[in-house]
Amino acid sequence: MAYERKVIDISEVEKQLEICRSLRGRICEEGRQPLAMVDTYGCQQNEADSEKLRGYLAEMGCGFTQDEFEADIIVINTCAVREHAEMRVLGNVGALNHSKKNKPRQIIAVCGCMVQQQHMADKVKMSYPVVDLCFGPHELWRFPEHLKRYLDKHKRVFETSQQDGCVIEGMPLKRDGKVKAWLSIMYGCNNFCTYCVVPYVRGRERSRQPEDIIREARQLVEEGYKDITLLGQNVNSYGKDLGLDVDFADLIRMINDIPGDFLIRFMTSHPKDATEKLFKTMAECEKCAHQLHLPVQAGNNTILKRMNRSYTREKYLELVKLARSYMPDLVITTDIIVGFPDESDEQFEDTISLCEEVRYDGMFTFIYSKRVGTPAASMPDPYTRAQKQLHFDKLMDVSNRISGEKHKEYEGKTLRVLVDGTTGKDEYNLSSRTNGGRLVHLKGDESLVGQFVDVEITSSNNWALYGVVKTTP
Ligand code: SAH
Ligand code: SF4
Repeated sequence: MAYERKVIDISEVEKQLEICRSLRGRICEEGRQPLAMVDTYGCQQNEADSEKLRGYLAEMGCGFTQDEFEADIIVINTCAVREHAEMRVLGNVGALNHSKKNKPRQIIAVCGCMVQQQHMADKVKMSYPVVDLCFGPHELWRFPEHLKRYLDKHKRVFETSQQDGCVIEGMPLKRDGKVKAWLSIMYGCNNFCTYCVVPYVRGRERSRQPEDIIREARQLVEEGYKDITLLGQNVNSYGKDLGLDVDFADLIRMINDIPGDFLIRFMTSHPKDATEKLFKTMAECEKCAHQLHLPVQAGNNTILKRMNRSYTREKYLELVKLARSYMPDLVITTDIIVGFPDESDEQFEDTISLCEEVRYDGMFTFIYSKRVGTPAASMPDPYTRAQKQLHFDKLMDVSNRISGEKHKEYEGKTLRVLVDGTTGKDEYNLSSRTNGGRLVHLKGDESLVGQFVDVEITSSNNWALYGVVKTTP
């Protein structure tokens, strides 16, 4: 695929930062600090993008709120992967009529993947007059410029240019929390699975330079972050566009070499690009979590082929075996789509049998959602929503049962976990994660947040483990 890797010069980002500073005092003119609310839908990449939006808003002098009636500016960062997420966004945007009525100068921006689709941007423009600003993921780095244009002219701004995307360094970031951090290593996707809208809205695969990633990782460790998740739609193809001799496994090793006590996680891994070198590296790097999110999507070869996933059921199962031979304690999770066009009962049963064979620690299951412009949208589909729901419910039962059984196996064991937050509940007031990423509820002092501790697992259910702290650092 002919794609020229485009990098935005740092001076362009500096210009955006200057605009941020020029906007101080203009978002609310009542002589107080303006308040911003950023609402995020969808994947971790969107969470990471929202951290950049917050970075810009902080440069504009904003504080932050979760209350739409209090906010001077509201930014809704949307998702396009399934119709359900789009419907939720539109419902919530519609409801903002109330907050804007209360606060007529309130600025409302809608950004992200949903509005990168022209038909959705048009819908927002026509049917949601409450929205002042609308921009797709490729325009996020120019948010300050677009906001200034709106404030100068008081005319709605819609920016959803079609493009392959670029790599941008130097944007400010305001992270949520102090323990876990997202670190984007690449953007976009080249895989064009036939059901998926991501390659159309996020552009082509483009990797950040290893030195930029390492610098950011080093800074995170220095700031005390203990759990770093490397993000990309298909991290296993990291570096292919760079023309360097660095692949994803090499990148893990380079981050592992940074001194400090922290964990490296990553998502998502496409099975077609997962290599033995990756599993060997994960096993050898002591900071790399033994956790693999390896979406299979379906267990039947005809469906996999029609999804354009580029692997077979047999190849996938071999891959899982290989990964487990390097890491017997590997925690494996997956994504599954139920009700892909024309998926029969027998074909669905292949998904069930694959899940029984792999015994996933956790599964994210979705009912197929038709996406405008994707090849699957025009595939014939005789099955009803009710039939798909039956399959979905059956798969959920299998998923819950296996997770429950696997969680039971932890009972009585002592594990090292990272305490990552408080729950607000009395009995189990702390939440933590195992090396493999399983959720453990604990009781203990809040000062443990951000620390690795040994816990004994005392009980479990289908969704989580429960434990008591054995040793504190
Ligand atoms: N790049 C990641 C996934 C991104 S989207 C990967 O390939 O693994 C996250 C998940 O949403 C996908 O794994 C898939 O299971 C689901 N998904 C994507 N498009 C969908 C659609 N049209 N309908 C239902 N689920 C979908
Ligand atoms: Fe979508 Fe497939 Fe790309 Fe994942 S790999 S983002 S499912 S096209």
